Amino acid sequence: MITTRAYSAASATSPLASDVLQRRQLTSTDVQIEILFCGVCHSDLHQARNEWSEFMPTQYPCVPGHEIVGRVTAVGSAVTRFAVGDLAATGCMVDSCGACSACAASDEVYCEKGSTFTYNSPDPHTGGHTLGGYSEAIVVDERFTFKVPGHLDLAGVAPLLCAGVTTYSPLRHWKVGPGQKVGIVGLGGLGHMAVKFAKAFGAHVVLFTTSPSKIEDGLRLGATEVVLSKDPAQMAQHAGSFDFILDAVSAEHDVNAYLQLLKRDATLCLVGVPEKPMAIHSLSVIMGRKSLSGSIIGGTAETQEMLDFCGQHGITADIELIPIQKINEAYDRLAKSDVKYRFVIDMASLKQ
Ligand code: NAP
Ligand code: ZN
Repeated sequence: MITTRAYSAASATSPLASDVLQRRQLTSTDVQIEILFCGVCHSDLHQARNEWSEFMPTQYPCVPGHEIVGRVTAVGSAVTRFAVGDLAATGCMVDSCGACSACAASDEVYCEKGSTFTYNSPDPHTGGHTLGGYSEAIVVDERFTFKVPGHLDLAGVAPLLCAGVTTYSPLRHWKVGPGQKVGIVGLGGLGHMAVKFAKAFGAHVVLFTTSPSKIEDGLRLGATEVVLSKDPAQMAQHAGSFDFILDAVSAEHDVNAYLQLLKRDATLCLVGVPEKPMAIHSLSVIMGRKSLSGSIIGGTAETQEMLDFCGQHGITADIELIPIQKINEAYDRLAKSDVKYRFVIDMASLKQ
């Protein structure tokens, strides 16, 4: 086993604290990555605090982190795409069955047997549960390891592995492009990447935010218009006008208000996962034959495509770099929508 320093939560109510964990010895298809940067996703907070207990009860100790960028320090004998010293990244998923129709389509995240998430999933190698990227090193099958455009700022690349692909994937799936009016709800880690991508794809982008302090940033990041969603008059001006809306909100809010803004036959896609179920009035979708949908992360081919797209267009996340010792403070700020726009942990701080 490979002994690795990490930060973990011992229970839903414990703060994250310094810990040591064991990684498996490399199999022939594995890559070992020394983690340089790891993004802090709101899903890390939801799971560290067991907020999704009904669907995905958290196993403890929980080592969160699925926005991982680093350098390859060892490779298995059958690895072909990576060599020691290469930059490499891994995201929310570390395994899938590889044989079902979803895996054959590189939609591994929709694997019929269930994909293995980077943390808080049963670990087929150890028999325990998977442990994420708030750690010095990780061992991952090369199928779930990605090439990083080396000219980009590496700390800003880390959030692409979740916030990036989770917004890129539905915007591509619903073919967002020129001539379309697209709404992005919530300017957090996911939302700010969604604004950047929707703009890069040529859409007319409208940001919905609850935070007046984020209006200027919304415009700078690529929105043509910013709507304060708590103002009913501003909301009413957009009734029936959107081709597509992506909802990246982490907490309870009224989705019916956004369904009313869609055109006939248009789709609202949820990527945010609030703790509690939401109430949808049937008439919100019946009137206008609208669709309410959802999307999770993205497959491996799409993740590499997104990273390459970001390399070509110079896209990275806007980040606040923190030492790991500040992670509990960062969680408290994240819970208050107070991050511009992704915390990223400088993993060198783990050695201090
Ligand atoms: P985040 O950085 O905390 O952003 C969430 C944003 O939602 C906030 O910045 C805020 O934007 C808005 N918001 C928060 N509370 C709100 C409320 N009560 N009412 C209305 N708006 C509110 O979170 P994130 O990391 O982007 O993640 C967002 C959600 O997506 C989380 O639930 C996360 O678990 C989920 N997620 C899903 C996937 C997937 O595959 N589907 C992947 C990753 C994350 P404003 O200040 O602009 O209003
Ligand atoms: Zn995430």
